Amino acid sequence: MICVDMHCDSVSEAYRTGRSLAKPCVNGHADLPRLRLAGIKLQFFALFPDRIYHPGRTLYQVLRLLDYATEAFREDAGTIVIRTRRDLERCLATEALGAVLTVEGGEPLEGEIRILRTLYRLGVRGLGLAWNNRNELADGVAEGQTGGGLTRFGRQVLLEMNRLGMLIDISHLSEAGFWDVIELCSAPVIASHSNCSAVWNHPRNLTDRQIKAIAELKGVVGVNLIPQFVGPPGAGHSALIEHIDHICSLVGDEYVGFGSDFDGAKDLICGVNDVTDFPDLVAGLRNRGYSEESVARICGRNCLRVLEAVLPESEV
Ligand SMILES: [Zn+2]
Repeated sequence: MICVDMHCDSVSEAYRTGRSLAKPCVNGHADLPRLRLAGIKLQFFALFPDRIYHPGRTLYQVLRLLDYATEAFREDAGTIVIRTRRDLERCLATEALGAVLTVEGGEPLEGEIRILRTLYRLGVRGLGLAWNNRNELADGVAEGQTGGGLTRFGRQVLLEMNRLGMLIDISHLSEAGFWDVIELCSAPVIASHSNCSAVWNHPRNLTDRQIKAIAELKGVVGVNLIPQFVGPPGAGHSALIEHIDHICSLVGDEYVGFGSDFDGAKDLICGVNDVTDFPDLVAGLRNRGYSEESVARICGRNCLRVLEAVLPESEV
């Protein structure tokens, strides 16, 4: 079975704390050896510039993180950066770990479509349009009261991402921004690390209407393991699986996956200390009565379908 995780902040966390991603570490939630140990085949690595780089130095920090990740992949030797459908096929045919590079928040674009294209050429294949705050592209969830959606530049970015073959990530985006994306987007979109507000009400979680809209576009929602998005204090495996149950009952089992948010916060849900506990979540799905077919979809195939629909065939 192929396991895919659509979001982690391990590159930023490893950079900040000075740990290596290429060597197994006791700190943090994930590194390349532990991802393999956990059976993850494909990991999305978000490049997230910490607030200290705002404003003005976010592009600089994203480039540093890109180098940090690339050097770790080189040292590790068994990692393939997924830029095209051909890379994906090659990765799936070997023992390699696949790495999908994404940028979290549009600040590093500095309002320039040329920077988007340059990041694409450097291997970035996904972009979260906004983090919680307002940027040149859109308002984030923390700006919900403004009613602001995508700016003119945000619309330009979205269309260019569709043209290039990049994943549009709506996690952290304001609700108005979300509906602008749904209206304009011609490809499946992802919510790489968001849960359901019907199960646990939090501004970062998605309403049922939003989940239905993502499913209509054949996108996928990655469920997040950070406790504040999952449930009350003490929430564990079964609370997380309730979010998966909810999405499946709402739209079926083809539009949900995992977006752990490893290293995005210090603590994860009870019972999960790091990525090596991931197999217990898979076992949890089986115990809940999900068929092997459903488990395979949720753990990876749904996300693979979106990658195959969005990524370019080969580099041009
Ligand atoms: Zn995030």
